[in-house]
This record gives sequence, structure tokens and C-alpha cells, in this order.
Amino acid sequence: MPVNDENKTLTILGSTGSIGTQTLDVCRMHGYKVKALTANSSTDLLEKQAREFHPETVCVMNEGAYADMKERLADTGIKVTCGKEALCETAAIPVDMVINAVVGMVGLEPTLAALNAHNRVGLANKETLVTGGELVKAAEKSNNVDIVPIDSEHSAIFQSLMGNSQNKIEKIILTASGGPFFGYTKDMLRGVTMEQALHHPNWSMGRKITTDSATLMNKGLELIEAVRLFDVTPEQVEVVVHRQSILHSAVEYEDGAVIGQLGVPDMKIPIQFAVTYPRRLPSCSRKLSLFDVGTLTFERADEETFVCLAEARGAIAKGGTAPTVLNGANEAAVAAFLDGKIPFYRIGELVSACCAAVRYTAEVTLGTINDADRAAREYVDKEIQKGE
Ligand code: NDP
Ligand code: MG
Repeated sequence: MPVNDENKTLTILGSTGSIGTQTLDVCRMHGYKVKALTANSSTDLLEKQAREFHPETVCVMNEGAYADMKERLADTGIKVTCGKEALCETAAIPVDMVINAVVGMVGLEPTLAALNAHNRVGLANKETLVTGGELVKAAEKSNNVDIVPIDSEHSAIFQSLMGNSQNKIEKIILTASGGPFFGYTKDMLRGVTMEQALHHPNWSMGRKITTDSATLMNKGLELIEAVRLFDVTPEQVEVVVHRQSILHSAVEYEDGAVIGQLGVPDMKIPIQFAVTYPRRLPSCSRKLSLFDVGTLTFERADEETFVCLAEARGAIAKGGTAPTVLNGANEAAVAAFLDGKIPFYRIGELVSACCAAVRYTAEVTLGTINDADRAAREYVDKEIQKGE
């Protein structure tokens, strides 16, 4: 049963990022108590957040940031911890909900730690489900706690499924903005700059997911996320490019009825809904005016040009640790792109080459996931060192 909203307690993993800061906006609006905050190395912002929200614990992942953070909060009585184990311990502190808003597959073990401590999880970190979906779903079931998706498409699907537990899903319509390079050819992609790639038409997000949106890997990861969350086959997920990002995704039922969720593109809506579910509360988000939007369009994605989406389909079809190989290759390639080491078009090439070359196993455990992730990253790093 949901507790009174005013008394809710939250832990925010990745509080200094795009989703993390918007979660704190929601906390500010509704007066939620924040028990713990975490970041990698953004000590300035983390200190500011800690002084405003007075959590019991603050955790930094980066060892180099630990001493600095301790010194900054020395006068506050807030406990400061560091490292992956500490991040998992933070996720296990009893709260009404852990929001997992870290970026990358480093979020998997904290998600499991939160579930195993019987904490509900508001999950933005999609890499958790792509790499360890089976483990996460098993932990959700065995601990009898909910995962509520925050990714806007999956929140829309989750909302479209409410009240329909008796009904079979025919199809999931997973909408995609198409990113900044929709309509580009392979040749055109060779000339794009980092600045163009980081300029998303509809959403303001962290650099990694913004790059994933430009390659369409984001939609590939989301396809796998949908398969994991909603127990459908990959074939039941239809990717539809919808440039306006107003219909956030939909579910088609056996009778042909399609139920979707619409709204302005603002992550505070799905973030707040994850926390207040199954209730809805007033929010500070703008309301949708269909008159202002005027036209909604729907088109097919070009998977020959945007190979990452096709690779994601291939990985989920193979199963086992194949999605982890895909994800590890992508994390390594995107990091290299954001470091200025490779051009944009190389991301897709490296992901494809890695998915073809690196072995995957059918068995999915934390051990096989970590091995697959390491092998994929090593493969990509070696290819980058070799040059083109
Ligand atoms: P950001 O890059 O903006 O923020 C990431 C957060 O994670 C920061 O707090 C960062 O700390 C922390 N972090 C980074 N690296 C590590 C690490 N190795 N260990 C622990 N913490 C780390 O990302 P977003 O908020 O954009 O995205 C977060 C997740 O949510 C991603 O999985 C993304 O795919 C998903 N998502 C995001 C959406 C969005 O609108 N932004 C929409 C839907 C899903 P620091 O500041 O110190 O680097
Ligand atoms: Mg999304």
C-alpha cells in the first residue's frame, strides 16, 4: 500500500545527473525526505544538494572525489562513503523508493541490492535491464517488490497496462523521436559533429543517452528494456518514429484497441508518477495542448543506416549475455566518441564488429555478465587503438 506522500523517503542514485536533478525537483515540490544521494565525481553539485536535502548518507563512486567530499561535508554530520560496494549499501538503506538514475551498467548491482533489501525501485537506468534483466526480474519477484519504470516510453507502457492485467498484450508500440539525424544517409552521418550529435530535438538529457538517441541505440536498448519489463517477445515490439515526442508509447490489445499515454516531453512526469504510483498528484510540468501540437506523425526507422537498432534486435534474439556484449561495446564506443577519439559513425561500426566477434554465453549470472562486459570493452578499446 502506498504511504502518505508527504512522508515518503527516497534515495537517489545519480542525483547530480539529468534525471537525478529532476527527481530532486519533484522531491522539493512534494516535500519528500531524501535519505541518500550519490554521484560519480560532481562534488560541487553533490555538496549543494546535500546541504539542501540533509540526507543521512552521501556516496561518491570516484575514489579521487572521496577526500574532497568528506571535507566539504565535515560540518554536517552526513556520512560520506565511496566505491561500488558503498553504492550498493546505499541502495539497500530502507526507503519507500530508490530512484536509480546512474548512467551505464554500473547501475545493475545497486538495482539488485535495492530489490534484495525490499526497496521499491524507480528505474531510469535502462542498462540495468539490458544487461541483467533476468536477474532483476527474478529479484523483483522473489522479494515481492515493484520496479516502476521511469524511462518515458516504458512509463507510458506501464500506464497503458494499468487495469489490464487480465488482458493479453498484442503489441507494444515503442515511439522514437528519431534523434537529430533522422532522414540522414550513411554518407551524411560521416560528416556529423559532436555538437550536432549532442543537440537532441525534444529532450535535454545526459551526454551518453543523448548520443544513444542520435545513433538510435537508445531505441535498441529500450526495445530490450520493454521485452524484459513487460514479458513480451522482441517481435511484439514495434518501433515507430514519432518526431514530436507527444505520444510516449502505447499498447495494442487483442481487440485492436490501442491505449497510449500522451503529454509534453518532460521527464518530471514519469519520475513523479514512479514515486506516486498508483496515485497521481499535481505536478509542475506544462500541460499538453493538442491545438499547439497540431500534427502527430508516425514513420518507420531506417535500421540499415542506424545499425545500432538492428544490432540490438540481434542481441535480444540471441539472448544470454549477448545484450551485455552489445551494451558494453556501446558504452566503450560512446565514451571514446565523447572523448573526441572517434567520429560519430564509428560507434555503429564498432558495435556491429564487437557483436559479431565477442562470444556470449547462454548462462546469465553476475559473473558471466561482468565477463561479457569486460570482453566487449576490451575488444572496442583494441579496435580504437588499431585505428580505422
Ligand atoms: P547523466 O549523465 O546526466 O547523470 C548520470 C548520473 O550518474 C550522475 O549523477 C553521475 O555522477 C552518475 N554516474 C556517472 N558515472 C557513474 C559511475 N561510474 N558510478 C556511479 N555513478 C555514476 O545521465 P542521465 O540522467 O541522462 O541518465 C541516467 C540514466 O537514466 C541512464 O541510464 C539513461 O539512459 C536513463 N534515462 C535518462 C533520461 C533523461 O532524460 N536524461 C530519459 C530516460 C532514461 P557525476 O555527475 O558525478 O558524473
Ligand atoms: Mg526513453
